[in-house]
Amino acid sequence: MTDTRHPTYLLMNGELVAYADARVHVLSTAFKYGACVFEGLRAYWNEERGELYGFRLREHFQRLVESLRICRMPSPLDPDGYLADLVRLMRANELREDIHMRVSAYVDNDDGGLGAFEPVSISMAALPMQRYFGKDGLHVQVSSWTRISDSSMPPRIKAAPNYHNSRLAIGQARADGYDSAILLSDAGKVTEGPGYALFMLRGGKLITPPVTSGILESITRDTLITLAPELGLEVVEREMDRTELYVADELFFCGSAAEVTPILSVDRMPVGTGAFGARTQEIRAAFLQTVRGEVEDTRGWLTPIFAGAAAAVGAVAQEAVPAT
Ligand code: PMP
Repeated sequence: MTDTRHPTYLLMNGELVAYADARVHVLSTAFKYGACVFEGLRAYWNEERGELYGFRLREHFQRLVESLRICRMPSPLDPDGYLADLVRLMRANELREDIHMRVSAYVDNDDGGLGAFEPVSISMAALPMQRYFGKDGLHVQVSSWTRISDSSMPPRIKAAPNYHNSRLAIGQARADGYDSAILLSDAGKVTEGPGYALFMLRGGKLITPPVTSGILESITRDTLITLAPELGLEVVEREMDRTELYVADELFFCGSAAEVTPILSVDRMPVGTGAFGARTQEIRAAFLQTVRGEVEDTRGWLTPIFAGAAAAVGAVAQEAVPAT
């Protein structure tokens, strides 16, 4: 859940601004028509090393640039430029705990038109965050809302207006007494949760819908696909039917915010024994060790924010920290 403490600074177009001054005009195209794409990222505090590690930050910024490109909005920076700015923000706020970052790119004008694609502004926030869900396992429903599709509102774009679809599903799930929802595609196939990718364990294999099935190209999903073989699990990316959810051995959501969160029941049918599955526990443990820097970072996934910041992102980040 999001912490209620506010950081001192946010970053707006590269400038550190006080938390209360980070504003957008109500007549901007961003506000009027949802012209906004964003990223949600995480950094983990490693107590033993006294270091904060950003997880796969470059991949997130690569996805941000791709979101902008599909939306025909110009990107003010390249992925390394975003990375340097985000590191600068975290260092300026002296954040030494687990944090969640939100980076938004939006059409920033006043009296903005529907057809305006620029100017694009960038805002960055880094906020303390522990676990995203207030509980250790979820009871979900298959939503009667259909997931948006590549031919209308592409889920591949991490666009703020896509989350209207997610909010409808969450609202319905809550009203019906569930924690969250799984959405099906137009074709009736399983896609993902409102803000999380989905994995199923069935017949000893780890199964997840392919990136062409109307899902966000989740970085956590990719991380688990990479880590699972090291745990002796074969990963299969294939279409999934709704009825498979009812006979799965284990099911879980994953995402930068959600991390690895077990699903205990679907439509009131227990998943497996209805408890936190042993394989999901192993996967979660491996994931958390990886993101927190407790195992060697052989893939270059971690950005050390404090001691190693200069080496990781170049001199820019170090020079740009304001004098205090
Ligand atoms: N699907 C959706 C719809 C999401 O919003 C998210 C969160 N960004 C995810 C999946 C998980 O993506 P990631 O692992 O890159 O955070």
